Amino acid sequence: MRIWSNRSEEAWIMGRRRFLCAAALTCAVPPLAFSMQLAPDMSRSLTKEERDRMTPQSVVEELKRGNERFRNGKMSPRDYLGEKRSSAPGQYPAAVILGCLDSRVPAEIIFDIGIGDAFVGRVAGNVVNDDMLGSMEFGCKVSGAKLVLVLGHTACGAVKGAIDDVVMGNLTGLLARVKSAIPATKFDGEKSSKNASYVDAVARANVLLGVADIRRRSPILDEMEKKGNIKIVGAMYDLATGMVDFVS
Ligand SMILES: [Zn+2]
Repeated sequence: MRIWSNRSEEAWIMGRRRFLCAAALTCAVPPLAFSMQLAPDMSRSLTKEERDRMTPQSVVEELKRGNERFRNGKMSPRDYLGEKRSSAPGQYPAAVILGCLDSRVPAEIIFDIGIGDAFVGRVAGNVVNDDMLGSMEFGCKVSGAKLVLVLGHTACGAVKGAIDDVVMGNLTGLLARVKSAIPATKFDGEKSSKNASYVDAVARANVLLGVADIRRRSPILDEMEKKGNIKIVGAMYDLATGMVDFVS
């Protein structure tokens, strides 16, 4: 009986502690300081108000934190059905991500974000083309996303194909877009697709050219960035470590 009583008391104290901690956090920490991941709880998506309160830089920080959770195996437990339900009437993503087709670089997983948090477009070599630019303009200008991210990665097959001058069907034209990164790559050493460091250096140059291309070819996004409404940035994902390195 006494043991039971002690346990009840302990449970009450623990519950009270949790309540006080939660209350203290609510009072002491401004809403934007919470890890939004990107929505603030795992059972729903970002609301328009939450997304609009974010700055372009805070979206970058959220993605960095999400990548850290992914790398450390501490991903947020998500209720995908809850996110599906809450986002069905409307979506308010915070970012537009242009990534590679590569099956090992799923943006939502490596950034630990949920349904409705980001627009994600994927094409081999994460190349910028008119359709992707139109999608980014929709994502930012029409829908209100705060960040455009070009996401390249290590050991990219499209980059290797461009280095090797692969010619095959429609792939030829796609790789031609990646090839412009080759003369833009500063590299001392063996310049071949067998040299992993060289492949990654070209992939990095390809990301930087992609970012520059977006600014040059989309006056809409360029103007939004100059006004501080959005940021256009590039990053490289390391297949081996899981680390996303923001390069611009
Ligand atoms: Zn790739």
